[in-house]
Amino acid sequence: MRKLAAGDRLIVATHNPGKLAEFRALLAPRGIEVIGAGELGLEAPAETGTSFLENARLKALAAARASGLPALADDSGLEVRGLDGAPGLATADWAGPERDFARAMRRVREELVARFGSIDRADRRAAFVAVLCLAWPDGRVECAEGRVEGEIAPEPRGTGGFGYDPLFVPDGESRTFGEMLAAEKEALSHRAKAMAALLARCFAEPDHG
Ligand code: IMP
Repeated sequence: MRKLAAGDRLIVATHNPGKLAEFRALLAPRGIEVIGAGELGLEAPAETGTSFLENARLKALAAARASGLPALADDSGLEVRGLDGAPGLATADWAGPERDFARAMRRVREELVARFGSIDRADRRAAFVAVLCLAWPDGRVECAEGRVEGEIAPEPRGTGGFGYDPLFVPDGESRTFGEMLAAEKEALSHRAKAMAALLARCFAEPDHG
């Protein structure tokens, strides 16, 4: 079975610059050349799936078929226990069409306060989830999931990362992802865990024989 190897070109099927930067950092040590879908002018397909897995799969397959190259896609989101798993699949939508994540983070807080009366009484347990799919132009697809458990900070803190990073404190840490260096987040993140699992299956180790 064909595997990715150093020197291969790989499409990363995202138009999100924060995700693209993280994938570049995760794949650079393997010698894989990452090309963003936007650089090839590939359109983002409608995310019509009903799970992270379905959406990651359809994005990866669309990019692999359109480009003739292997393509990696992720579908990810934030699940807050006190909001019954919301925003979940709607994580990006809560930022509105203008992708305003200050507004999205405000909405998480407001919905917790509306349910629990105050942010201190709210069930703020949360997880970031990422499902990654690697699709080949022939239609073969490999997928892996990564999760990081943690809690919602009472207020956003930090300017690092992207999206909801300033609102999420991973277990074992007092800082939010937004207060960490990129490499510190990478050591803990849902995306890095899913990537490690996928690479273990889909990356050919150099032949030392
Ligand atoms: P997707 O592009 O449909 O997968 O949307 C995922 C949403 O989850 C985006 O709005 C991101 O901001 C958010 N998200 C996913 N991963 C992260 C992360 O590592 N940090 C912050 N926000 C994230």
